[in-house]
Amino acid sequence: MLYKELAEVYDKLEKTSKRLEKTEIIANFLNKIKKQKEEISSGIIYLLRGRIFPDYDERETGISSQLAIKIISKATGISSADVNKKWKSLGDLGKVAEELAGKKRQATLFREKLSVDKVLHNLRGLIEFTGKGTVDRKIGLIAELLASASPLEAKYIVRTLLGDLRIGLGEGVLRDAIVWSCFGKENKEAFEKVQTAYDSANDFAVVFEKARKGLHALESIEIEPGRPVKVMLALKVDSIEEGFEEVGKNADFEFKYDGFRLMINKTKEGRIYLFTRRLENVTKQFPEVIDYVKKNIKGKSFIIDSEAVGYDFKTKKYKPFQEISQRIKRKYDIEKLSKELPVEVNVFDILYYNGKSMIKEPFKKRRELLEKIVRKERFKIKLSESLITDDAKKAEEFYKKAIEEGEEGLMIKKLDAPYKPGARVGYMLKLKPKTKEFDLVIIGAEYGTGKRAGWLSSYSVACVHEGRFLEIGKVSTGLKEKEEEGLSFVEMTRLLKPLIIEEHGRDVKVKPRVVVSVIYQNIQKSPTYNSGYALRFPRIVRLRPDRSVKDIAFLKEVEKEAKKEHR
Ligand code: AMP
Repeated sequence: MLYKELAEVYDKLEKTSKRLEKTEIIANFLNKIKKQKEEISSGIIYLLRGRIFPDYDERETGISSQLAIKIISKATGISSADVNKKWKSLGDLGKVAEELAGKKRQATLFREKLSVDKVLHNLRGLIEFTGKGTVDRKIGLIAELLASASPLEAKYIVRTLLGDLRIGLGEGVLRDAIVWSCFGKENKEAFEKVQTAYDSANDFAVVFEKARKGLHALESIEIEPGRPVKVMLALKVDSIEEGFEEVGKNADFEFKYDGFRLMINKTKEGRIYLFTRRLENVTKQFPEVIDYVKKNIKGKSFIIDSEAVGYDFKTKKYKPFQEISQRIKRKYDIEKLSKELPVEVNVFDILYYNGKSMIKEPFKKRRELLEKIVRKERFKIKLSESLITDDAKKAEEFYKKAIEEGEEGLMIKKLDAPYKPGARVGYMLKLKPKTKEFDLVIIGAEYGTGKRAGWLSSYSVACVHEGRFLEIGKVSTGLKEKEEEGLSFVEMTRLLKPLIIEEHGRDVKVKPRVVVSVIYQNIQKSPTYNSGYALRFPRIVRLRPDRSVKDIAFLKEVEKEAKKEHR
């Protein structure tokens, strides 16, 4: 397939903000790509998402705006300084590439037509290079594409490189388009089936391949140890009573540990993999966990859900999440750190056991299986502390105990519920003492002045609604001026700078990647922000490197909180 066809689809998507129109455009396009061979249609699906691999695959092209400027300069023969100037005025390197490619066009009449395959090949090539000469080779690969690209193609190649297509295509639209194309708009059942398949496979190309063959093939997608599964998410409640209302009686109450989610996988070949809730593979980072899993869990193959909590090896004191989060990204001194700051694994659910998916089994049965197969050992691996009851008083006491022991609160679970990967459906609830807090993503920032000059020191934070990020406030408190004192402006600036996609004076727009926990005093309706709400007195309390944009607060949660306040 020619890349031109894909570029035209991007262009159509960009020109409409209407969800149904977008779905129609993609469904029509999917009808076309059904005729392609599987390898090609897979690649096209990834490109539609602005990616070159499945969503869970962490490999990224690693191109910053600065490098993209060099590439455009090399491909067009226009100096980097001039490209930079254009970027400042247009605010989008994709548009810059489009405009400059148009100018260059007259000179190269005989350009080669770009195929999707060629674009994918060169983009994937970016990942293979490391070490000396890497930058020049990367520039070469992309400049080669741009040299043959039409203005429209150039625009989307550059945006794909930067990981920001700006076509407003969320997961939901692609899911619906797959349904429309493979099963027809009216097929209600198919919507859920496609979503369920996606939550298990985490790969729209796999889902599309199966959907093309029919509902039956789609249902054959099973979770499988070694391929990350999306974790089930929790809804917030404010009291034990509200918990009972949601999940019924009896309910399971568990300590809510302040660590990070860890999915433990053992494949039938006996290989062990660890994934975070962002589906990052952290197997290498936690050698001690591999050891516990080998020694303390019985079973040939499994997927087990857990919360890992760090502690100080010497004092045996548990550490709050911030202090252990460094281990998630750590690439060196891993062994040393695993001795100084080891984690204790609190196992709380099982999704797969000895060749069979367990997700449709009721929670109670899954928990009973865990009791049988995990040998508990303090400071290594244990089952989450649990109490099954219908008695609100007993549950209150248990809640008190959790808080006294320094835990965050309670989780409340529905005993007869299945495990729904990726869903926030109320089978699992969280109850924490009242601080009003949301996890939000930073979508923009502002350079400070005076003492804070040179730092990005005020941040626009957003919640999510149907794949769109909607701003709900600006926050500049909570960060330190000195690096030694904790999360600082310097650190945040370092994190955000490579993510900048637009600059207007002191304001910048960034790729939505950095997730922060924000506490606030109350929520007000507000026309200032496109979410329709504003947080009053927001303060950043911590970075959440373990969270992705999929974990941030939904607009409907914000709405729910706002309503509560006005009751
Ligand atoms: P929150 O991070 O506030 O959305 O709360 C949900 C998170 O609590 C889950 O994603 C887990 O990482 C964590 N958690 C801690 N203890 C448990 C537990 N016993 N059961 C389930 N999740 C838990």
